[in-house]
Amino acid sequence: MKAVLKKYWGFDDFLPLQEEAIKCVLSGRDSIVVLPTGGGKSLCFQAPAMAMDGLAIVVSPLISLMKDQVDALSECGVAAVRIDSTLTGREKSETFSRIRRGEVKIVYLSPERIMTEGFTEFLRDTPLSFIAIDEAHCISHWGHDFRPEYRQLGRLKRCFPGVALHSYTATATEPVRKDIALQLGLKNPEVLVGSFDRPNLIYRACRRTSRLKQVCRVLDKHPGDSGIVYCIRRRDVDDLCAALRERGYRAVPYHAGMTAGDRKQNQDDFIAEKIDIIVATIAFGMGIDKSNVRYVIHTGMPKSLEHYQQESGRAGRDGLDAECHLFYSGGDYAVWKSLIGDLEPEVHAIALEKLSRMYDYCTGITCRHKALLEYFGQTLEGNNCGACDACLDELSLIEGSLVIARKILSCVVRLRERFGGDYTAQVLTGSQDKRILQNSHDRLSTYGLLSEFSRNVVRGWIEQLVSQGYIRKSEDYGVLKVPPAGWRVMKGEETPRLLKPPEKKARAAVSRAIKDSWEGVDRGLFEALRELRSGIAAKKGLPAYIVFGDAALRDMARRRPSTRAGFLQVTGVGEKKCRRYGDDFLELIKDYCVSHGLEVE
Ligand code: ADP
Ligand code: ZN
Repeated sequence: MKAVLKKYWGFDDFLPLQEEAIKCVLSGRDSIVVLPTGGGKSLCFQAPAMAMDGLAIVVSPLISLMKDQVDALSECGVAAVRIDSTLTGREKSETFSRIRRGEVKIVYLSPERIMTEGFTEFLRDTPLSFIAIDEAHCISHWGHDFRPEYRQLGRLKRCFPGVALHSYTATATEPVRKDIALQLGLKNPEVLVGSFDRPNLIYRACRRTSRLKQVCRVLDKHPGDSGIVYCIRRRDVDDLCAALRERGYRAVPYHAGMTAGDRKQNQDDFIAEKIDIIVATIAFGMGIDKSNVRYVIHTGMPKSLEHYQQESGRAGRDGLDAECHLFYSGGDYAVWKSLIGDLEPEVHAIALEKLSRMYDYCTGITCRHKALLEYFGQTLEGNNCGACDACLDELSLIEGSLVIARKILSCVVRLRERFGGDYTAQVLTGSQDKRILQNSHDRLSTYGLLSEFSRNVVRGWIEQLVSQGYIRKSEDYGVLKVPPAGWRVMKGEETPRLLKPPEKKARAAVSRAIKDSWEGVDRGLFEALRELRSGIAAKKGLPAYIVFGDAALRDMARRRPSTRAGFLQVTGVGEKKCRRYGDDFLELIKDYCVSHGLEVE
């Protein structure tokens, strides 16, 4: 299998669990493979398909996903086809005859198509190696993306007795896993569940102070990189996107209020790298396999950690460093709460619980990787992930937090536990707001007690006290109350943790995964290679990352090969791509090295 991996994909080693998953396929034992986005699920069925006799069937929910994968496979020299409604009659019959002649190793199909009678007949006369079900959680009501057409797949075992079924998903929960096995009628399946940690993603969460400024700060670190900016509302998408374009960023919008044509155009431009940034509601993302998304920004809090995991997970699928920024506000909590207001009581309670856990994550000041993993029932080894704001020491704690907390708590008490966080922060910072003057709260002993700090900083501390249980917010209007734990702070018996105001930055050690990916890479050469790649991609009408992934380009800019043999050593360069593109890239590398006085390998 290693030889197959090198020959077609140009990879030297398997990613975690790929080897085990491939063994299941080779031995014909049914399987359920759960790996996070970017975990390399596709290779688990594509690689063994090349080593086995017969045709492998892959069931996939979306035409865009099928097209992407088949294009990528063809680029690698793998005989893969898809049969879907976009093919012309002629293309279809051509494809059928290629399958008949045994020239095809992998065929991608929708669930509806494989279950049509005529088609099942056709396949029964074709020697099959196995059937793979991609995005298998779509079969379960318990998943977040149930698709009725997936239910028909329950007949596969009867239609194709003796053919093994392998299912793949990124949805980790136990009920979904059980349901997949049940619905597909799997026989004693091997269940492989990978770690859901994404060590190459850097997670940060901080309060939203100015949406535009905070977003621009991230964008400016990533000139020319692809990234996604999520907003909760369509209106925010339009406003933010317009503001970014005005400032010269190459951004386009995406939301359900646009025409299907406009949406598709913007999505295609993003994939083709004609634009850098897509500003979108969560309507965007399903079926986007783009591997080199370098950052995902949330300008509002998602409604659950499941959503956050999925959306932020679209960054860095290629395993290279990528950033996930979350800018939240207490107002987001209220917005979601009103949006989930009309659900049935049981569902409502679950939704509310998920929302609270999401908010705790935002205001939390412990390791983000750990917090996310624990939510999904897994644990993280080690104490410092080196890839989140907490572990990178960007969330440095303020000394004297006890004094500050006591000032805040006594202000809540002086306000007779009748006001919310914004108002309380205004009083503490000595605001001249009309309401405060009308209420004569400028005469409270706690008025202006924290006036050396900005209102946003104090507002943030209030949330931090809430998340640690020292202040309680009333259910309905978010009025602040002091629970027993808060009184213990007032008496000096407990000390809360509070963050330093954001402008003070400390630098801590960046994790290995992130440092390694740039180790020894000549950035100038990388940029030049990227340009060559996008020229080739445009000419061929393919997404750039299908020609070569970012990992391959970085490895070229690291090794600087001068021969075809050297070029083949580069990760992500298989035999076919070496033949097809090797000379162009080698020439560029040589020219660059000569003109920059660099040694070649
Ligand atoms: P998933 O479907 O699980 O989200 P993909 O199959 O799209 O993940 O793979 C994610 C990325 O990892 C792709 O860019 C792919 O080329 C890369 N990849 C997969 N297997 C390997 C491997 N063995 N070595 C290096 N890169 C790999
Ligand atoms: Zn961490």
